[in-house]
Order: sequence, then structure tokens, then C-alpha cells
Amino acid sequence: MARPLVLKGARVVTMDPGRRIVDGDVVVEGGKITSVGRAGGRAAGRTVIDCTGLIILPGLIQAHIHLCQTLFRGFADDLALEAWLAKRIWPLEAAHTEESVYWSAMLGAAELLLGGTTAILDMETVRHTGAAFEALESIGLRATAGKCLMDAPSNPKSLREPTERALQESADLCAKWHGAADGRLRYCFAPRFVPSCTGPLLRAVSDLAERAGAVIHTHAAETPLELQIVKRDTGNDELSYLDSVGISGSRAALAHCVWVDSEGIARLARQQTNLVHCPSSNLKLGSGIAPIPEMLAAGCRVAIGADGAPCNNRLDAFEEMRTAALIQKPRLGPESLPAAQVLELATLGGARALGLEAEIGSIEVGKRADLTVLDLEGLHAQPAEADLISRIVYSARASDVRHVLVDGRVVVKDGVLKTAKVEEIRRAANAQARRLRRAVGL
Ligand SMILES: [Zn+2]
Repeated sequence: MARPLVLKGARVVTMDPGRRIVDGDVVVEGGKITSVGRAGGRAAGRTVIDCTGLIILPGLIQAHIHLCQTLFRGFADDLALEAWLAKRIWPLEAAHTEESVYWSAMLGAAELLLGGTTAILDMETVRHTGAAFEALESIGLRATAGKCLMDAPSNPKSLREPTERALQESADLCAKWHGAADGRLRYCFAPRFVPSCTGPLLRAVSDLAERAGAVIHTHAAETPLELQIVKRDTGNDELSYLDSVGISGSRAALAHCVWVDSEGIARLARQQTNLVHCPSSNLKLGSGIAPIPEMLAAGCRVAIGADGAPCNNRLDAFEEMRTAALIQKPRLGPESLPAAQVLELATLGGARALGLEAEIGSIEVGKRADLTVLDLEGLHAQPAEADLISRIVYSARASDVRHVLVDGRVVVKDGVLKTAKVEEIRRAANAQARRLRRAVGL
């Protein structure tokens, strides 16, 4: 077993039930946190990372990401969701090969780790999901990922799959990857959204996920047009329809939920369905502003995510936290969605959406050692006298991340990725993006 690791002399934002901020050390052993506070002198046999003057946070969690779209960054700007999907994203996804999915995942995962995100809920494309898992296995990010399911007749031919084949491949991927890399990798069942999927597929997904103990990851209530299509096709409103096919409750994570009325909010709270707020994506695609303060007041489970690179265009958890807070204020006043609440979305909320609240999301003895170490000495985060949570949510940037641990493994040290070569990722990702762009005639 690896030697115990001591992160020494930091301010530790625990996010424990008392929301304690303690000055001291975090000790990591066998991938877990074994002590928080004063660890005592320099015991022999320990590796020490000096964290004097640094801040330790629970690793940030983004519960809605599409790693397969990282190579499309900047190829689909300034379009509405429907055109964005039909003209750019779907053709580009259809042009993916195993190699391009691999490098898309490496590019996204490297950006995420360097920016302090340690765990994600990911939706891949229809094909080559195994290549994304291989990238995730080697780069060391914690991920729950799934193959995108699109079996409805209305889908583009290039991505549409027969129901049985889509379900079989999902079950095979789940058997191979759910619990891989000592539990760091997990599988999720990922129907794209209701208009892309048949009723029988959605019902089967609910059964398969229940049997496997896996999360269901989908999009919902992103635009009024989507709601109209679902109403036309099913006669039902989208969230009721999802519930009727078994996609609700703590096993389900629904990205966006922008267009939900108070009745819908009350139902989501009752069900304890996870909602994943993607503020930058909702702004860039012009989808709207999700009623997050109302959802939190009703007792909903809320997480946060950057969505895919082409609708953001960053995969930066700090940017998402800041944006989530700011966009509510013109609507409900400056008191709404304060910094401390936003930090919960990116830690405890994300852990719940991944079904991993017993393992990650806070710095507590017994939890997995997923940690983000920040250096807030930069002038943009001064004065240091200010409230620490305010500095993290409103002032900090991804580039302030100094060290990152996932499962006790140091994956970023002194701002340098240790598990892959950034130059190689840059070169390969650019070559693959060039090929994809030509393939779709952009
Ligand atoms: Zn999405």
C-alpha cells in the first residue's frame, strides 16, 4: 500500500454537517481521508505536501458533462438548441471514431482536473463509449459515464439505433465498467432526452438501472419547444411522463430543468429527483434561467455542471458557481443564491446526483480522498480578510488550483497534470478536431 500522505498546514473547507472550516492537516491513507485537523508532528513513513497558506476544498463535482463534445468547442457558437443539435452537434457526434472519442475525453478530463473538478456525471455519444472509459481510466478522473441512447424514429439516421441494440450495448458497457478502477468509474444509463427515445426504451432503462444500482442521466425541460414536442407525442408534460416511465427519484439526474412550474418543483422535491443546473449553457443557448432558489427552498436536490464544451465553452466549475449565483440576482434580488449555497451545489449536491454522497462531496474521515487545493494569493482574490467562501465562489478561478487528489492519488501537483502529457493531448486533440470538422464540411 502507498505511504500515508499528509496535506499539511492548510485552511480546510470541510463541507461537513457543521460546515466547519478548520486550520490543520488532511491525512490520506489507502485512498481515504483518515484524519482532518492536527495530525501531529512529522511521523516517519509519511509523504508530506506543504499546504501552508493554501485552501483545501472537497474536490468539485460537475454532474452534467459531455466529454465527447470537447473537440467541438467553438464549432457551434451562437445557435439555438434545436439548430445547435441538428446542424452541428449530431453530425459531429456521428463523425466520431474511437480515436476521436478517446482524445475528446482526454482533453475534457485534463481541463477538468487542472481546474479542480474531481468527479463528473458524463453523457457520451451513441458509439465508442468504451474509448471514453479507457481515457478516464488512465487519466484518473472519477466519472460516472454512459452511452447516449437515441432510438426514436425522429432521430438523424446517422445516430439512431434499434432499441434492442442500444439497450444491449448499454448493458454490456455497464457489466464492463460499472465499478471499474476500484470503483472510481461507474456506468450510467443515458437516454439523450425524451424526444430522442421511445417509451419502451425509457422503461427498460429504468429497470436496467435499478438492477445495476446505476444512475439514469438525461436532459429535461431545457426549452419550451422540447416541452411542446413531448406534450404532442405523449399527451403528457415532460416531467410527469419521465416519472411514468420510471425516470424520477434519487437514481435520476435531470440536466437543465429550466422550464418547471411550481407544481413541477414540488413534485421533483417530493421524489428527490436530482436536478443539474447548467447556468452557462442555459445562457449561451438562450434557454432561460432555471428557478434554482425556488427549487432549493422547496427541498429539491440540485447539482451543477458545465454541460458540453460547445455550449459553454469552458468546463470550469468556478465559472459555473459564480454564474449560478449571479444570474438569479436580477430576477430575485441580490440576496438570492448566496455563495455558501452555491458551493453546496458543486460539492454535496454533485455527490448526491452521482449517488456517492457516502463517499465524496465533503472532507470527512472515512470518505474518499478527492481534494482540490487552492492558492488564493492572487490579487484577484485579495484581501485575504474577506469571507473565505465568498473568495472561492466569486473570486477564484480554475487557474488558482495548485494540487488535486482523486482517490488519494495526486493527479495535479503544483498546477501540472501528472497522469498525462498536456502537449500530447493538445496535439492529438487538434488533429482529431481537424478531421471531424472536415468530415462534416464545416
Ligand atoms: Zn447536455
